[in-house]
Amino acid sequence: MLETPHVALGVAIAVAIPNPLISIPLAFASHFILDKVPHWNPHLNTETKKYGYLTNKTLLIIGLDLACAAVLTIFVSRGNVNILLASFASILPDIVEGPYFLFGWKNEVLQKWISFQKSIQSEANLFWGLLTQVLVILGALYIIT
Ligand SMILES: [Zn+2]
Repeated sequence: MLETPHVALGVAIAVAIPNPLISIPLAFASHFILDKVPHWNPHLNTETKKYGYLTNKTLLIIGLDLACAAVLTIFVSRGNVNILLASFASILPDIVEGPYFLFGWKNEVLQKWISFQKSIQSEANLFWGLLTQVLVILGALYIIT
């Protein structure tokens, strides 16, 4: 899934549950649950295998997605550490993949992690795959507000 819906749910969990000992692990776990919801995202693995790097279009999508996630986190948290950490935890499983896709680190542990995350993804076409993510964001905003 894109990072914005992951972060939206992560910060919503922290808003609903002020105890960081519960909200942070829960935000982390929510990442894997959301990836089970059918969704669309750029095909990082396919592009890396095909071209050896990510296309500019994909890098642009990643940049915009991370910018949205950051704005949402800053806006909702207003410096609240519980919410900031829950936001980070909600995308940590993807953040650790960054060096592989962006800097070409072909580390064995990283590759095993990427295959694991790939195996639990549920994919959908662009239309339905974006709609599910918009619904996740709206659901999360409903909890937040
Ligand atoms: Zn993921």
